[in-house]
Amino acid sequence: MSVAINQDEHERINAHEYPGTRQLCCQCNAPTDKCEDDSMYTDDGIGPLCCDCYSLRSQEKERDILKDKLADIKHDASIEHGEDAAL
Ligand SMILES: [Zn+2]
Repeated sequence: MSVAINQDEHERINAHEYPGTRQLCCQCNAPTDKCEDDSMYTDDGIGPLCCDCYSLRSQEKERDILKDKLADIKHDASIEHGEDAAL
């Protein structure tokens, strides 16, 4: 019979093995310089992340949002000019 470690237990072990600020970034494995109280997670719950990875992910997200907006604008413009909307 296998014993599954649940998330709480996993966090407890991490807190024991990596006390204080020794929290590692889940993207690049660098120390995040953060402790449990101020660890950084994305809106999607990905983390903990270091400052670099966190800002990188926010930038990517912002870029995706801008891309969507640009696609909408292009779509609207193509309708205005009577072009095929599928383009
Ligand atoms: Zn990182």
